[in-house]
Amino acid sequence: MDIIEQEKRLYALEFNPETDTYGDKSPFRQNTHSPALIQYTCPCKCNSNFFNNSGWNSHIKTKTHIYYKKNFNFLNKPLLDAKKEIINLKRENNTNLNKIRKAKQIVKGLKNDKLILEDKINELKELPSIIVKLEQLVEKYKADKKEFDDYSLSSDDEDFEDCS
Ligand SMILES: [Zn+2]
Repeated sequence: MDIIEQEKRLYALEFNPETDTYGDKSPFRQNTHSPALIQYTCPCKCNSNFFNNSGWNSHIKTKTHIYYKKNFNFLNKPLLDAKKEIINLKRENNTNLNKIRKAKQIVKGLKNDKLILEDKINELKELPSIIVKLEQLVEKYKADKKEFDDYSLSSDDEDFEDCS
């Protein structure tokens, strides 16, 4: 016959958030005759082992277990405090993660603003050469105008034709 190693688990009372209390709930499926592969131990007492639903049912009626259940909050204060602490730390962690996410978005926005500003600065760097080109155009225009004015004056003197 094969020896099947039994799995050991710790039995735990189930929390009822509506009544804010802990109560018994069988870890076994009722009316099953499957082999007892899982051994449960209740924290109320050493060697308080049960292997099936009827064993569990007898155990939860023992004086020790009833006392344990009645004083669960007192007997498990360090554990319950640690659970509360974990919940608070997780909440704090989520808040910090949200802050980091927002900060990353701000940094991303600032990086975009920086790129836009760099483009503007580059455009401004071209401004002096544009001004020089404009000044050259003005000078050229002045020179052309003078040439035109001089030409007009001389043609008035020499090439004037009276149409009358
Ligand atoms: Zn117990």
